[in-house]
Amino acid sequence: MSERQVIWVRAGVTTFTCLCEECLAEPEPKVETLAYRAAKVAGRLRAEADVGFTRCHRGHPISIRRVGRTAA
Ligand SMILES: [Zn+2]
Repeated sequence: MSERQVIWVRAGVTTFTCLCEECLAEPEPKVETLAYRAAKVAGRLRAEADVGFTRCHRGHPISIRRVGRTAA
């Protein structure tokens, strides 16, 4: 099927929000007008963690990865 979504977060960031692309691609009929709200995913990643994992409210898997420390 499709590749797993990956959300990138900056160094030091412990919370993130994103939109589930799979939900946007296939909105639930009942919430079509609220597709963006329904697709919204919020989560946390521990400051010392480089990778994480979450799911949107419909269960689509989403990986979280921390961007390398490129900017001071
Ligand atoms: Zn989804």
